[in-house]
Amino acid sequence: MIRRMRQVIVAANWKMHTTPADAGELAHTIAARTRESGVIRVLCPPFVCLAAVRDALEAPDVAAPDGQGVAVGAQDVHHEPAGAYTGSISAPMLAGLATWVIVGHSERRRDAGETDELIGRKLLAARASGLRAILCVGEQLEEREGGRAAEVVERQVRECLAGADPGQFGTDGGLPWLTIAYEPVWAIGTGRTARGADAAAMADLIRATLGALGFPARGEEIPVLYGGSVTSGSIGEFLAEPAIDGALVGGASLKPDEMAAIVARAALTATARAGRAAG
Ligand code: PEP
Repeated sequence: MIRRMRQVIVAANWKMHTTPADAGELAHTIAARTRESGVIRVLCPPFVCLAAVRDALEAPDVAAPDGQGVAVGAQDVHHEPAGAYTGSISAPMLAGLATWVIVGHSERRRDAGETDELIGRKLLAARASGLRAILCVGEQLEEREGGRAAEVVERQVRECLAGADPGQFGTDGGLPWLTIAYEPVWAIGTGRTARGADAAAMADLIRATLGALGFPARGEEIPVLYGGSVTSGSIGEFLAEPAIDGALVGGASLKPDEMAAIVARAALTATARAGRAAG
């Protein structure tokens, strides 16, 4: 049950794809083809493409009829504001380039050994710099098969948010400071997806955990997205679940046709929610 109307969000994770030479054009094409009212659109290109994407999204023909533009997000951020961290990018460095950031993606947990404790520090760094965070959580295949998926996701949420002041991670101007993406690791880039009902159960668990951590309204204000091989063909199954507020899209987010269809489906959910909230 939706006690408060949560925003519907479609976030694109371009991973290590695009260059500064081509990212702006792709961003503009996607933005112009996803002009749907009621959907928060976020494009997360590689760091070196942030400026090109930001500039492309300033074009007048990308705003939706409700006036919403497209936000730019980074794919990661360092936990310290500055220092001897070769190759890293801090939250203050993203000022003027991005307003959102993905933290704790499973590819960074896998490739950079990121722990829940470190991810928690990144969340705090993002919030301190005014970046809206998308926190990724999700179990490995063997954890799901072993019946431990819920335990793993609950622990990730608890540990990543252990140092956070829940009062600092609510909404501001209707936009959330914290969004959680449930991304089962076995579904990322594999073409396999979770079932909608399983993703919804995990979203309920995530909100119950937020409630236990002291988040306002028992976590009901925090959007929970599904991520893992989402396409235009599968988005409907997830958005049919009231507990799911959108998607974090990887591979399909580089394809304008796919993004147009995904955002169009998300707009149906946004319209239905607005109707329920009004009535
Ligand atoms: C992701 O990168 O967060 C993701 C879900 O990727 P894909 O959609 O390609 O599985």
